[in-house]
Amino acid sequence: MTTFPLSAEDREIQERARRFVDEELIPWEEHAEADGGRIPDDERARHHDRAIELGFYAMNMPTELGGTGMTTLQQVLVSEQIGRVTNALGWCVHTPPAWAPAVVSDHQMQTWILPTIRGEQHECYAITEAGAGSDVDAIEATACRDGDEYVLNGEKMHVTSFNGATYCFFQAKIVGGPHEGEHAMFFVDKATPGVRLVREPAYTHTYPDTHAVVAFEDVRVPAANLVGQEGDGMSFTYEWFRYERLMIAARCCGAAERLIDEATSFAQQRVQFGEPIIEHQAISHMLADSLTELWAARLMTYRLAENIDAGVDVKIQHGQCSMAKLYASEMAGRVADRAVQIFGGRGYMRENVAERFWRELRVDRIWEGTSEVQRNIVADQLQKRGTRALVG
Ligand SMILES: Cc1cc2nc3c(=O)[nH]c(=O)nc-3n(C[C@H](O)[C@H](O)[C@H](O)COP(=O)(O)OP(=O)(O)OC[C@H]3O[C@@H](n4cnc5c(N)ncnc54)[C@H](O)[C@@H]3O)c2cc1C
Repeated sequence: MTTFPLSAEDREIQERARRFVDEELIPWEEHAEADGGRIPDDERARHHDRAIELGFYAMNMPTELGGTGMTTLQQVLVSEQIGRVTNALGWCVHTPPAWAPAVVSDHQMQTWILPTIRGEQHECYAITEAGAGSDVDAIEATACRDGDEYVLNGEKMHVTSFNGATYCFFQAKIVGGPHEGEHAMFFVDKATPGVRLVREPAYTHTYPDTHAVVAFEDVRVPAANLVGQEGDGMSFTYEWFRYERLMIAARCCGAAERLIDEATSFAQQRVQFGEPIIEHQAISHMLADSLTELWAARLMTYRLAENIDAGVDVKIQHGQCSMAKLYASEMAGRVADRAVQIFGGRGYMRENVAERFWRELRVDRIWEGTSEVQRNIVADQLQKRGTRALVG
């Protein structure tokens, strides 16, 4: 039964992703939850290889670079399915930085980007600092040119996947020269002297990937590690934000679908006061609200992806990515909360899917820009461009 105009190829990709999640990832979910997000090494390696075989890994990269060159809509369809399982397992599908091919040098392409597309290397992002979260421009990390090298200093936090990464994107402000105070981004191999793991705090979700505090102390990198030009740093971050905000919206739609399915099935079976609880209107209305909001979020997310594929102005994309991320992440949070309620006491148990998503989805209102920051962006775009440009 077709309910949204997707091509036959789009449908096939969506089904391929759904089967992968249902048959190979979801069965490991409880095991991962019980073991700090980990599953046996051979199984993890198999998921990684399957994600490559099925064409999901590096799906955002052009085929001539070894990616699968999917359209934005197709990537959304895959991400949505991946969102139906915990990120502890879903992150076997990895998308290297989409902005990179257009800006990196040949040396950087060969050394870091191509191996990342092949799944041999893994990046992490070292941007946020203790004093600079939403306000990225407040970073204090520095990059000082010294002959053919830059000397990097700073302490970064929330560096996701630092434990599994081979290199970091490190964002700093230039010290000295004509670009004093401007942002710049660097490739930094994790093994470079001066890169020091400070600590790996525990977070609300149960992932094998850590979010580390990392110190960069007089780290010397060749000038060839500078991405683009001095002063370019923020533009890459904005492009990454747009991409990730859309994919977060997609994953939130997938999570909401899974939760609605699971909660509906439970509500149909669970009998209290002589009838399935779904017969109690208080329960069925929670499901009805959840489904309605999911539909709205999904249509918004798909339409945004189609707009990007159609080449809609990047400033409009910027506002629409914020709207999709804002709405879908808050929708998923509400759906998860209702799902916990429908499961009752079972919904508060670690082995329960609703409990897991209720914790996991909370960060989608924080990372890649908090809900408040998304609202600021949307309000700013509204004033600059008007209603019709943004939602017409
Ligand atoms: C699990 C996790 C993984 C992360 N991974 C990475 C990573 O890999 N690399 C990386 O560099 N960073 C990462 N981050 C950092 C993330 O991007 C920041 O947490 C986020 O941008 C918010 O910054 P902050 O936490 O410092 O909050 P703050 O900016 O201190 O905000 C605190 C509160 O104030 C509000 N606020 C701030 N400014 C405004 C404003 N102008 N108007 C209204 N309200 C405002 C916020 O919305 C929030 O509610 C990660 C964070 C988490 C939790």
